[in-house]
Amino acid sequence: MVTHQTIGERDTVLDAEDLAALRENLHEQRLFRQEQLRQFATHSSNRAEERRQSDAAQVEVGVRLAASARMVLADVEAALARMDSGQYGTCHLCRRAVERHRLLIVPQARYCGRCQQVREAGR
Ligand SMILES: [Zn+2]
Repeated sequence: MVTHQTIGERDTVLDAEDLAALRENLHEQRLFRQEQLRQFATHSSNRAEERRQSDAAQVEVGVRLAASARMVLADVEAALARMDSGQYGTCHLCRRAVERHRLLIVPQARYCGRCQQVREAGR
């Protein structure tokens, strides 16, 4: 029991170096998504008028990709805002710390592993 507790706690502690790396990662993701959305915007406005029917399917896919890019961008920006306000790394549901290894993979994660599983199971 005691050892589990220690490992669990160590896993949730983010040091300054981790935070700097995560912030860097979030900034990169933000730039990437912003660029992606810029490309979608120019592509869809050009294409939709030039060749309507043949590209309808592609435009449709583009619209969906743009929507998911926008969602990720919103998540990334929310994570950066949480970093600035010092709330970063806290689960939105149970208020416990989000696992460090989880944040290193998905820096914009809002929920701890347990809550994420519950949410996905509920879908
Ligand atoms: Zn949680």
